[in-house]
Amino acid sequence: MGLEASPLAQAVGSYLASRPRVTRWVEWLAGRRYRLAVFPDRPAPVVVVAYRYRDPARAAQVARAIARDWAQAPSRCRESYEEILARAPGLIVVQLRRRNVCGCLGHRHVVVKEAPFAEPHDAFGGAVVGEMDIAFDRVEGWLALPLMDTALDTQFIAGSRLREFHEQRLRFRLLSILLHETHHMASPQAPEEAVRERSLAFYREALANYVENARASLSFTIDRSFSRLGKE
Ligand SMILES: [Zn+2]
Repeated sequence: MGLEASPLAQAVGSYLASRPRVTRWVEWLAGRRYRLAVFPDRPAPVVVVAYRYRDPARAAQVARAIARDWAQAPSRCRESYEEILARAPGLIVVQLRRRNVCGCLGHRHVVVKEAPFAEPHDAFGGAVVGEMDIAFDRVEGWLALPLMDTALDTQFIAGSRLREFHEQRLRFRLLSILLHETHHMASPQAPEEAVRERSLAFYREALANYVENARASLSFTIDRSFSRLGKE
């Protein structure tokens, strides 16, 4: 499903474009940009990536993780978030940063601060708005599952697709953090332990599945220990 198939995404896009010209100019000059993304198999939540003018490539990775990589994850991974996404805010604003002063990968915000979304608007069609931040560069350097991440690296270093692998892995990390914070929004009472376990399982299985497929299509030799990695 592209943005055109999500009525809410359409309405939000039109709303952003139809605000007074002076508002949009001030925002543009301040360096604020927005990019929308939806999961390919559901019209909501609509994710608004709010980013700085110098970070379009980072914003594009987040959007691609949602719009494309989500569908690459095994169906059981996606099913584990089915109920959570159904209960999540219809509109999720992601303030994309390079890093956070506190050093965290991301947080959910109690109050929506991103100006165009801070007040309810007709265009949102009654959808609840949630907000989080993600520290992109921190996520890039994060070893989510140290043993698995390092072991996979040594497998790919032999091939020419290491860079592609790193980008894919980064997008799965971004996706797992987005899902993690979305889970907190959908179930404020859920214990951190359970929320983290689910998001790491998503990351681990999505990555293992990607590697499995890549391995099937690659010609370089892979160590026999490889087959045990998916079980870390
Ligand atoms: Zn958490």
